[in-house]
Amino acid sequence: MIKTDILIIGAGPTGLFTVFEAGLLKLKCHLIDALPQPGGQCSEIYPKKPIYDIPAYPEILAGDLTDKLLEQCKQFEPSFTLGERAETIDKQDDGSFIVTTNKGTQHHAPVVAIAGGLGSFEPRKPLIHNIAHFEDKGVEYIIKDPEMYRNKKVVIAGGGDSALDWSIFLSDVAKEVTLIHRRNEFRGHLDSVEKVQDLKNKKKINLVTPAEVIVIVGDEKVKAVVVKQAQHIEKEFEIECDHFIPLFGLSPKLGPIANWGLEIEKNAIVVNNALDYQTNIPGIFAIGDVNTYPGKLKLILCGFHEATLMCQAAYQIINPGKRYVMKYTTVAGVDGFDGTRKEAPKAVVKAIE
Ligand SMILES: Cc1cc2nc3c(=O)[nH]c(=O)nc-3n(C[C@H](O)[C@H](O)[C@H](O)COP(=O)(O)OP(=O)(O)OC[C@H]3O[C@@H](n4cnc5c(N)ncnc54)[C@H](O)[C@@H]3O)c2cc1C
Repeated sequence: MIKTDILIIGAGPTGLFTVFEAGLLKLKCHLIDALPQPGGQCSEIYPKKPIYDIPAYPEILAGDLTDKLLEQCKQFEPSFTLGERAETIDKQDDGSFIVTTNKGTQHHAPVVAIAGGLGSFEPRKPLIHNIAHFEDKGVEYIIKDPEMYRNKKVVIAGGGDSALDWSIFLSDVAKEVTLIHRRNEFRGHLDSVEKVQDLKNKKKINLVTPAEVIVIVGDEKVKAVVVKQAQHIEKEFEIECDHFIPLFGLSPKLGPIANWGLEIEKNAIVVNNALDYQTNIPGIFAIGDVNTYPGKLKLILCGFHEATLMCQAAYQIINPGKRYVMKYTTVAGVDGFDGTRKEAPKAVVKAIE
């Protein structure tokens, strides 16, 4: 059982900034995310796009913003459960919560902050009748640990950046990489398409187009896939493999959180924005893109603001009756929020003098 002060569901920009604000209040955070990496939409959808409305950054790439947020919160040593979806929540007699993921990992905390954005990103699955039987037995929709494929025979399906980039990467790791796409043209970046062509010419990637996997062969584990190719005349053949990885993109769904008894409006969680972004269940907060209230804007900076106010309320739940005095970080640094620091950092004293 993982124990923490604030359990954050969603490691997007809002969740990551919550770690920092909670850290100032000496509250520990653990984050759960369905994706294998932190950063939410910024990392998953548009890491290379510049953002122009982050205060004090005239321009910053979404991927770089994630790196900066991780750097900023690192000092408070957050821990992560990545690649797992928060599935159920159980309120305990003392008002605390146990959140269990789809892989059975349990987390215990007095406060839960849902920073789930548009919801957990669910993989788009191909329509192959027996695919469910092989999930986690050779079929993976997200690559969490590329080392898993070392010296293995891998078949990847898809035509976007993810399929191209992983084919390129795994060509150096796996014993054999086959990329299957139902069209001859790819949707990914031109340089990735060229790199795949180059690796095909060097016989490091087998490229099969226009084609699709129609059946998975195996008993307890994947042994091969049956491919239907429609080049000149239609033909079907088997490719021996240890892993089949369909990378058809991810679509966000509020998912299991929708069944937690929270008040939901238009696929978002209703919160008390006049006070602290708490939901209708005391102890459960919703911040960032996942919540709704009059005038809500789904912007990163709004998530940062909501996280800041929410942490103040979490402090009161975790330390009932304890008074704290809010101080500027310029005065208290990052470790003196509860008054433990005796004096201001030297640089600040100098500036005041
Ligand atoms: C193309 C694009 C461009 C954008 N440009 C801008 C811009 O210029 N400026 C701006 O301010 N905003 C922009 N946005 C919006 C911005 O990205 C979002 O406002 C921001 O990502 C919200 O952050 P968040 O942390 O609340 O949620 P998200 O970034 O969506 O992160 C939520 C995380 O929660 C996880 N999650 C959800 N449910 C579960 C669950 N049950 N279990 C485990 N994990 C779960 C998800 O996997 C996800 O990683 C843009 C968005 C897009 C798509």
